[in-house]
Amino acid sequence: MLNINKLEKRFDDIEVLKGLDLVVKEGDVTVLIGPSGSGKTTFLRCINALEEPNAGTVEIDSLEVNYNRSYKQSDVRLLRQKTGMVFQTYNLFPHKTALQNVMEGPVQVQKRNKAEVEREAKSLLEKVGLGDKLDAYPFQLSGGQQQRVGIARALAMKPKLMLFDEPTSALDPELVGEVLKVMKDLANEGMTMVVVTHEMRFAKEVANTVVFMDGGHIVEQGPPEQIFEMPREERTRRFLQLIS
Ligand code: ATP
Repeated sequence: MLNINKLEKRFDDIEVLKGLDLVVKEGDVTVLIGPSGSGKTTFLRCINALEEPNAGTVEIDSLEVNYNRSYKQSDVRLLRQKTGMVFQTYNLFPHKTALQNVMEGPVQVQKRNKAEVEREAKSLLEKVGLGDKLDAYPFQLSGGQQQRVGIARALAMKPKLMLFDEPTSALDPELVGEVLKVMKDLANEGMTMVVVTHEMRFAKEVANTVVFMDGGHIVEQGPPEQIFEMPREERTRRFLQLIS
């Protein structure tokens, strides 16, 4: 479903991603871990072309964009439409209610029927446990609730792949669990997900594959039992010791 080949990204002279390969099967949850500055966020943003890679290919759901040669902007737009992204900060429209925030993309961007979108948006907000907050504005919601609106908003676009960039790291500790629970439910329903997180328990419980990145490389990847219990690489071992 997601197939990445020799992906490279530079910012000016700094090589941030140094040729990354990744395959994610439909329905799999892949968690990216690694030290600060290792390139996790940049990698995620290159997957849906929020950052433009300098080289390599990204294929999502049979649509490939090849950055090694000139490519169509229309393909990039299609690629983006196949992904939903949840950010560290929620970026909700402050002057719109939870329901309006979730409806915005499907109505304004996808030009879909408003009544139908409203039905779906309500059901998505119910699904993330906010059925009683449809008319609340972001400032009336806790960080955890805002992030759950953010997840519902991404899902409203019917993505094939969900990307999460440290979705709980801006939250007070007591609010982390409710967001992780929504993500876990989504994983159990079969959503394909790539998640950058420092929540190792989530990685252990939910991930099919854990990818350890360092210095712009994928150092190793494997099922959580292998990465956490029997890492092959010294760098992975050192990182896991530091955070445990
Ligand atoms: P963290 O866990 O701290 O979020 P990360 O592993 O997600 O780190 P990135 O945010 O991807 O790492 O950053 C990787 C490197 O790329 C860092 O050295 C960062 O300074 C650099 N970088 C990221 N975005 C830009 C940018 N827009 N312009 C220049 N350099 C950037």
